[in-house]
Amino acid sequence: MNKINWNFDNTYFNLSKSFRESINPTPVKDPKIVLLNNNLAKSLNLDFSKINDNELSEIFSGNSLPTGSNSIAQAYAGHQFGHFTMLGDGRAILLGEHVSSSNKKYDIQFKGTGKTAFSRNGDGRAALGPMLREYIISEAMHALNIPTTRSLAVVKTGELVQREKALQGAILTRVASSHIRVGTFQYIAARQKEDELKTLLDYTIDRHYPDIKNSNNQALDLLNILIERQCDLVVNWMRVGFIHGVMNTDNMTVSGETIDYGPCAFMDTYDPKTVFSSIDQTGRYAYCNQPAITKWNLARFAECLVPFFEKDQKKAIKIATETINTFEKKYEEKWMNMMRDKLGLFGLDDKDKSLILDLLTWMHEKKVDYTNTFCHLMKLAPKENKLFEDNEFKIWKKKWEERLLKNNNTLNKSIELMKSNNPVVIPRNHKIEEALEAAEQNDLEPINKILEILENPYDNQGEITDYQFPSKSNEKYQTFCGT
Ligand code: AMP
Ligand code: MG
Repeated sequence: MNKINWNFDNTYFNLSKSFRESINPTPVKDPKIVLLNNNLAKSLNLDFSKINDNELSEIFSGNSLPTGSNSIAQAYAGHQFGHFTMLGDGRAILLGEHVSSSNKKYDIQFKGTGKTAFSRNGDGRAALGPMLREYIISEAMHALNIPTTRSLAVVKTGELVQREKALQGAILTRVASSHIRVGTFQYIAARQKEDELKTLLDYTIDRHYPDIKNSNNQALDLLNILIERQCDLVVNWMRVGFIHGVMNTDNMTVSGETIDYGPCAFMDTYDPKTVFSSIDQTGRYAYCNQPAITKWNLARFAECLVPFFEKDQKKAIKIATETINTFEKKYEEKWMNMMRDKLGLFGLDDKDKSLILDLLTWMHEKKVDYTNTFCHLMKLAPKENKLFEDNEFKIWKKKWEERLLKNNNTLNKSIELMKSNNPVVIPRNHKIEEALEAAEQNDLEPINKILEILENPYDNQGEITDYQFPSKSNEKYQTFCGT
């Protein structure tokens, strides 16, 4: 069955059996397609023109499996809130790697397809709301130019899943450049079989970083690349106010893509301690802790690679430690440059850091919206806000304007730079909730509208004011894990 142009390879399946369980999705009763990402499909060379909705629903529910796929649940481990656990795909199944016409491999994974060997006490299923939420936010991240897994389809299963109450079941098709996680390395390292670890290392380099294939210290090169990639990623999250919410090592990819949109959300009012996840009581994964946690996770990755750095273990650990400790300096530099871009500052100036910190402190103290402050500076504020008439802000703004014009710069050039770094619209929590509630009742208009708006987050589109503000209600927004 291959009417849509799937072109599967199964390189991960072909690795050692220790890496996965061979398993098919559990069929569902009455699948109905809810969302289909035609733009993404096009870029994957998939063709939906010869197929009807019924057949699409059968395909994207896993009821009818494409020829050429060898479906598996991948094994991995992870530090969850700091505690090491053996995990694996408890509710997801990897069909294989779809190879596009440009010869690029994409993991095609179904999420919510039933129990696997790694399900522990879970039912292997997913509910409609959280799958649609992942679809919206992952696609928004992509449009924000932030590396991420993507969403190709959501199908309702026609079955109920039991959570706090019974909810409509759903399956999401997730597309990723791979699903290899820091936790995948941890799983294999914990088995203490160096040949398996070498297999995973070689596979990862082959698939993601072929440029270092001939280097004489591949493992160290890989660690350095990952530090770079994850540093870039977290700086991007900080740029748009994204809070991942569950940065466990099993939710960090070696490709550098954002993965696992469970309890994530975007910050409205600027507060570095912002946490949305109901179970993150200590704020381990709060906005301001994301860089430090990234470094912590990278250190867990480095531990797995120690045997490859150097034969002498002591020396190898020293190399790992020194390499990991380059993170802070890299982060600081990248963060400063990102903030300079957000503020339209060209070149460097000694006072840049205090200029940036003064603005953030002001936003924090006066409880100002993060995204809309930069919109105000770009003269694209969705609505005038009295907060910007504040004296302290006016004094800051004057200093900023003076700094802008340094290095032969013009205001126009600065605004252009700012426009490609500051979104005018982000996925606001209450608008997502509205869209999900309507979709629950079969009304797909709001979800299609929000998806359309979020496709161009840097464009000042027509009537979108409603999407540019947080909810007026003071109720604290909460997100949940394991939905
Ligand atoms: P997450 O918090 O989504 O990163 O998931 C952590 C682990 O729990 C992964 O191994 C998931 O596969 C597993 N998991 C989450 N929800 C379920 C479920 N409903 N059934 C089985 N396993 C689950
Ligand atoms: Mg996960």
